Amino acid sequence: AQQTPKKKLTVRLCGPRGFCAGVDRAIQIVVLALKKYGAPVYVRHEIVHNRYVVEGLQERGAVFIEELDEIPPEHRECPVVFSAHGVPKSVPADAVARNLFYLDATCPLVSKVHKQAMRHHRLGRHVLLIGHEGHPEVIGTMGQLPEGTVTLVENVEGALALTPPTGVELGFVSQTTLSVEDTADILKALEHRFPQMHAPAAESICYATTNRQEAVKMAAPGADLFLIVGAPNSSNSRRLVEVAERAGAKHSLLVQRASEIPWGEIGEIGVLGLSAGASAPEIIVNEIIDAFAERYDVSVELAVTAEETENFPVMRALRDVELTNA
Ligand code: SF4
Repeated sequence: AQQTPKKKLTVRLCGPRGFCAGVDRAIQIVVLALKKYGAPVYVRHEIVHNRYVVEGLQERGAVFIEELDEIPPEHRECPVVFSAHGVPKSVPADAVARNLFYLDATCPLVSKVHKQAMRHHRLGRHVLLIGHEGHPEVIGTMGQLPEGTVTLVENVEGALALTPPTGVELGFVSQTTLSVEDTADILKALEHRFPQMHAPAAESICYATTNRQEAVKMAAPGADLFLIVGAPNSSNSRRLVEVAERAGAKHSLLVQRASEIPWGEIGEIGVLGLSAGASAPEIIVNEIIDAFAERYDVSVELAVTAEETENFPVMRALRDVELTNA
């Protein structure tokens, strides 16, 4: 029987995409800790927001917990790793009180935001944190300062309705993984209301978030469908879905694996945009391209807006493990 020829599909593959230096470092910390200290290694919260990564580490002996009291007394000697999103100050303090050995995998760029928030506070300023309520990074940043000294601003409406304490100066920081455009709008509203508000000494939204959004923006116009590889709880991945639609993709979707692609709903497509959030491994991007190649005559086009060379070394305690395995 004669086969009907496959329809042509151009896949616009964004670069940079996928893992950032902070995620890469966090995963390395767990892997190296497993090598050095053996299983189990406890990890507080999903090390990065990706099920595939989490399951892979579980198979090697990582045990994911939400709170430190889940570590059984007989495992007190085992290391516990804090996730890339950062933790409130109370968490390392609690670890010390419990006599636990911890490795902090907080991304250095999140730590930088913590420092900026602390600097505002030290200078007597009330801190405005632009971010999403409940996200672990926001919980971590708020937890650097005493209660009541930080106010969360989630959107423009929040900025307009804000009633910060009177008689104190204001300083802002933001979550690292926000939409660059939305944050600019929120800032505009805040600056209009509080022209004396102080900016942080360095930009809070990180290079990886900015670069991934730029590449999606470039690839989106004319795309019939845009897929972002990422988890529903990954802030930077969800922002990429929004950026794609705003920049002209007809439809944009978040998928964790190729098995989640809703083939029945895709309809006629000629151009597919494809990128991955900072916590999504490249292997899933390939899996998705393969899945399309089974159904379409695929040609891949690159949409590259930046080259990334960032590399964040792991902490000293684990560097010897790397060396002996090199
Ligand atoms: Fe660090 Fe940015 Fe990656 Fe978050 S997205 S881990 S802040 S580099």
